[in-house]
Amino acid sequence: MSDAQCADLTTAVEQLAWTAVREMLQLQPDAGPGSDAPDADLRQMWLAALTSLLAIRDSADQLAASAALSAAQYGADYPAIGDAAGMTRQGARRKWPGLAGLSDERQRKLTWWNRRGDQFVQCVRAVLMASEETSEQAPRLAALRGRLDEIEQTSPAQRLDVFDMALVDAHAVAVGAPSPAERTAARAKGLLAALTADAYAAMNSHSSLVIREDLACGTDDCASEPIVELWHPDFGHGPVSACREHAIEALGQPDIRIVAACRPDVALSVFAEAYGEG
Ligand SMILES: [Zn+2]
Repeated sequence: MSDAQCADLTTAVEQLAWTAVREMLQLQPDAGPGSDAPDADLRQMWLAALTSLLAIRDSADQLAASAALSAAQYGADYPAIGDAAGMTRQGARRKWPGLAGLSDERQRKLTWWNRRGDQFVQCVRAVLMASEETSEQAPRLAALRGRLDEIEQTSPAQRLDVFDMALVDAHAVAVGAPSPAERTAARAKGLLAALTADAYAAMNSHSSLVIREDLACGTDDCASEPIVELWHPDFGHGPVSACREHAIEALGQPDIRIVAACRPDVALSVFAEAYGEG
């Protein structure tokens, strides 16, 4: 930034501060540091200016942190962020930790939503249509309906945050209660659970998935690799891991749903095979 640009910024910040002073003290539009006012009034104005300038600095700090986060999501690494902030790479990392890898995460999310976004929205619509408004899940259903509206009203560039929230609500709806008795409605709910499981598996980094390697299939004496976690309202103790074969077998029972995938792109294919759609 050139010296002239810095000077312009300082002038703009000064004007902003004095606008805030006039609002704080309820002064006339022409009141300011050069006005012909008693010393006591000018003293009060300068004290208010001090308060407002420090508030502007705090706001700028918050906005800077937000800008660093966004820059990282769009691919900036710590050397680039440090360079823009006038500090070293290590300094930038200390000031704004946790920004590495955000670009990769954003890319994984974009890829998944580009591929499955339409299917996800259709599936949520089907679940909402089939659900009783009076059910105990009504608040969650209302939240999910609100997310759908938000997705439609948000520009594609801003949609990732809304999708993140929609996934949280979809997961809660998909696993929160027994399945509807009607088969089409039950299928929609099961599909939403599988879609959500696949979304999380695709969006998480590889390192957070390999932690699951020590899990075994929940069926006794089965040595096959578990690839999904299943949930049933009666399990009580949380999800149970299952290999492909035993997952497909279990999904034949009512109320069993896939709630997590141990690898990307397995939940939907297991679901499809279990429902004879593979
Ligand atoms: Zn098994």
